Amino acid sequence: MQIEAVKGDITLLHVDAIVNAANQALAGGGGVDGAIHRAAGAAELHKACAKIGHCDPGDAVATPGFKLSAKWIIHTVGPVWHGGGHNEAAILASCYRKSIEVADRLQARVVAFPAISTGVYGFPQDQAAHIAVDTLRSIDSSTVERSILVAFDDSTFSLYNALLSS
Ligand code: ADP
Repeated sequence: MQIEAVKGDITLLHVDAIVNAANQALAGGGGVDGAIHRAAGAAELHKACAKIGHCDPGDAVATPGFKLSAKWIIHTVGPVWHGGGHNEAAILASCYRKSIEVADRLQARVVAFPAISTGVYGFPQDQAAHIAVDTLRSIDSSTVERSILVAFDDSTFSLYNALLSS
């Protein structure tokens, strides 16, 4: 699987699936979650999420992309940062792994990820970037040909580029 970084708004990408940094209730919220709900069509996406009802931290579920160019939205719930001693790293790694598993089942070939947990959930950006790159690199068999790490800010974009060139 090829891994690359881009800077920008994940809702605008022409990919098979975008990953959402959702909350456990799949209720929509701020940050990238809010942007995805607005761009996909809040009413329809809300209904699809309500049907699923819940997602545990580290797990992932899928809905259609509705008005997005992306056919699918893979909702994963990142860990809330509580200082690092509460399994945060393992849960974040699981978000990337489970999202790729869901993408495999959907036969998605190109998947875009936001920097899960690095917004209101408070996960340190550099550690999160390492986990994103290391976890995706560790997946050796997948129908996903390309994973795109989408940075919304310059510092995240620099971190991804440094890690991907090493
Ligand atoms: P979390 O609750 O998992 O921390 P946030 O949405 O608060 O999720 O933030 C996760 C990351 O998504 C942050 O780095 C934030 O800057 C980024 N982000 C916010 N909006 C967008 C967007 N439209 N496209 C891509 N990334 C975004």
